[in-house]
Amino acid sequence: MIIPKGSKLSPEQLAEVEKIAEDFDCSILEIQGHNRCVYAILGDESREVMFKRIAGLHFIHKVDMIESPYKLMDRRSGLSDHTLKIGEEEVGSVAPFIIGGPCTIDPDNPSLFLETAHALKEAGVNALRGGVWKPRTNPYSYQGDVKALEIILQARDETKLPIDLEVMDGEQLKIALEAEVDVLQIGTRNALNYSLLKEVGSLTAGSKVSVLLKRGRHMAPPNEFIAAAEYLVAAGNPNVLLCPRGTTPILDGYRNHPDESITPLLKNRTWAPVIVDPSHSVGHADFVKACSIASIAYGADGLCIESHIEPSKGIGDDPKQAITPTVMKELIDACRAAWPNRYQADF
Ligand code: PEP
Ligand code: MN
Repeated sequence: MIIPKGSKLSPEQLAEVEKIAEDFDCSILEIQGHNRCVYAILGDESREVMFKRIAGLHFIHKVDMIESPYKLMDRRSGLSDHTLKIGEEEVGSVAPFIIGGPCTIDPDNPSLFLETAHALKEAGVNALRGGVWKPRTNPYSYQGDVKALEIILQARDETKLPIDLEVMDGEQLKIALEAEVDVLQIGTRNALNYSLLKEVGSLTAGSKVSVLLKRGRHMAPPNEFIAAAEYLVAAGNPNVLLCPRGTTPILDGYRNHPDESITPLLKNRTWAPVIVDPSHSVGHADFVKACSIASIAYGADGLCIESHIEPSKGIGDDPKQAITPTVMKELIDACRAAWPNRYQADF
């Protein structure tokens, strides 16, 4: 839809716009309103270059694209019925899908992770998480250790729960795929790393591997988040999970700005399951349960929550934001109770 600066395009201006549209096999329809005219583009309006050329004309105020910038992630795409399984569980089918585990696996204390894993299984989680390689703001903080991979693989063996861990580059991706990791996590810092997204999408094309894409901390519009997921799907893997995890903080007191309320907006635009991460969002163990229940009420299909059997002994984020397996059990019960009343997109 083209909106001119004036109330109507002059015949010369209209001819100029029509010439651009014709170059892209489109035509222009004038729509006369009460006081002013707007102009519809008829034809395949997904052509970005045509939009830019029209928007660049000095007499045009704005051009609105009606078609979404993401084709495959769109609710109305051929993938709208796509469902995904992690392990044996279909995400979001009958109850919230819960991923739980420490922020970071301590390679020198395997028993802490293994005990946590067993306790979380007991509490009812559907999958285990644990950081092997860590994206740290401070270059001198613990960066991860491939030794931790063995520990999470052992936990999968013992508990039979699927596992989720973050990869930050192609090298880690290959190691994780060789280990047949069930869910690859793309962290907030790499949410706009389009080369990595393409590589992850193509190396997992046609496989059962799922990708949990965190929302960028600075990523404002929902469409930017969905378009990042489109990279994964377009490269061949439709098993994507959208994970809001808080954005740049504006509330003094939370680690990030809690953004679970983005869930209904995502649900109305795309078919992909939404798994909210309340831990990084609020950044404090005391608030995690409330944020989790709110996320389910907003329509989330599940949660990714940091949990540790003894948070004070954890490394990474665990001492401040991990909940214990006992709290995890209460949280899961509360989220299951909230599940029947959750927001559901109406299509
Ligand atoms: C994490 O899950 O531990 C993590 C580092 O997440 P994020 O990318 O959301 O900061
Ligand atoms: Mn963390």
